[in-house]
Amino acid sequence: MPKGPIRRAQLIAPFGVGAMVMVTDGTSLITAGLDHWYEREDGSEADDKSEFRVDEWRLAQSLGVEHFRLPPDFRKPNKGDGVLNAYLTLPFLRFPQWHFCSACDRLEKFHLIARGKVKCP
Ligand SMILES: [Zn+2]
Repeated sequence: MPKGPIRRAQLIAPFGVGAMVMVTDGTSLITAGLDHWYEREDGSEADDKSEFRVDEWRLAQSLGVEHFRLPPDFRKPNKGDGVLNAYLTLPFLRFPQWHFCSACDRLEKFHLIARGKVKCP
C-alpha cells in the first residue's frame, strides 16, 4: 500500500474504518476493518497488545464492551535497541480499483492491495 502519514487521532475521526483517505502521492484508500490492526506487514502480530489498552469503565459499561484500544503507532527500533511492538502497520485498501490514465485514455484495474503510485505503461 502507498505510504501516507495519518495521525493516530485521525484514525478515530475523520479517517476511521471505512473512511476514504487520500495519501500524499494522490492515491485514494479506504481504511480497512479492525481484524488486521496490530499486525506487521509479514502477518506477525503485535508483541504486547495490552500497551494499547484504554480502560474507561463508565463508557465501557454503557457501550457493553470490555475495554478500548488506541490505534497502533509505527515504530522503528534504533540500532541495537529492541523496541516493543515495532513495525506495526494499519491495513488500507485501494479504492477505486480502476484507474483512468489521461495520457493514453486507458482504464486499468488494480488489486485491492496494490502498492505505489500508478504509472503510465
Ligand atoms: Zn497511460
